[in-house]
Amino acid sequence: MFDLDLHLHSTASDGTLSPSQLIDKCAESGLKVVALTDHDTLNGIEEAIVQSNKLGTIEVVSGIEISCSWNGEEIHVLGLFPSLSNSRLYDYCNRARKNRLYRCKKIVEKLQQIGVEIEFEKVIDLAGKAVIGRPHIAKALVDAGYVKYPKEAFDLYLGPTHASYYPSSTISPFEAIDLLLESSALPVLAHPMRSKVKSGRNPIKNLSKLVAEFKDRGLQGIEVHYGDYTDDQINKLSVIAEENDLIECGGSDFHNSGNPGEPQPGTIGPPMENFHKLKDRLQ
Ligand code: AMP
Ligand code: MN
Ligand code: MN
Ligand code: MN
Repeated sequence: MFDLDLHLHSTASDGTLSPSQLIDKCAESGLKVVALTDHDTLNGIEEAIVQSNKLGTIEVVSGIEISCSWNGEEIHVLGLFPSLSNSRLYDYCNRARKNRLYRCKKIVEKLQQIGVEIEFEKVIDLAGKAVIGRPHIAKALVDAGYVKYPKEAFDLYLGPTHASYYPSSTISPFEAIDLLLESSALPVLAHPMRSKVKSGRNPIKNLSKLVAEFKDRGLQGIEVHYGDYTDDQINKLSVIAEENDLIECGGSDFHNSGNPGEPQPGTIGPPMENFHKLKDRLQ
C-alpha cells in the first residue's frame, strides 16, 4: 500500500463521497498525505482539512483539476497547493461552473433528441451543490435503467465520439499553467495516457513534444503513477518526466464512482519522497 495519493475527488465535483467521508476512507487505507483535486473547484478543501485535523493521522494538500481543451481534445491539468485566496482562480471556477451547467443542458437535449428520456432537472438534483459534470448525467442514465454503471454511459452515450457529445468551452492547458502559477500552485499534467477504466478517453497526442512546451511554460510535474496504468506506461512516462525535469506525480483519481475495477485510494501513487520534492519546488 502507498502513503501518498495526489489525485482524488469528492462531492464538490463528480465524486460521490463528501470531503470528510473521503478523508476517513483515505486514512483507513493507511494514506498519510492526500491531495483533494476536484474539477474546477476548491469548494471541498476546507472540509477535507478540518476532517484531517480531527483525525490527526493524515495531511490534506489543497488541489484542483482544471479541464482544458487543446486542438479539440480534452487535457486535464492539476494544480497542487493552490492558494485559497487568489481571486483569478475563483473567477475561473465561477466561469467554469456556469459553462458546465450550459454544457450539461446541451448534452441532455441531444440525448433527448435521440430518444433517451432523462430530465435536466433530475441531473441538477443529482449534482446538488457540486460543480456539475458528465458523471452526473451518467448517474441519471443508470437510475433510468439505460446503463448498468456510469462507465457504460460513457461508452454508449457520453464519450467524445458520440452524437450527443458537446464540447466544453474552457481554457487551454497553457492558460491553465499560467493561472495555476499565479495562484502559487504547482501545475501537473494529469493522466497523459489511456486508462482501461476510462476507455472512452483519448490519450494525449504528440505527448513528448507537448510536454516540453508545457515545461517551458512552467509545468512542474506529470502523472506517472496513475490509476490502472501498466508498468509499460509507467516506464514510458517516467522517461518523459526525467527528460523534462518534472516530478513524478499521480494517485488513484478515486471518485467512488461505482464502476467495476475503479482504482482505490492507497493502491497506487508516487513515493513519499516526491511529496518533499514538490514542497521544495514551492519555495
Ligand atoms: P466532464 O468533467 O463533465 O467533462 O466529465 C469528465 C469526467 O467523467 C472525468 O473526470 C471522469 O470522472 C469521468 N469520465 C470520463 N471519461 C470516462 C469514461 N470513459 N468512463 C468513466 N468515466 C469517465
Ligand atoms: Mn471526474
Ligand atoms: Mn481528469
Ligand atoms: Mn481526476
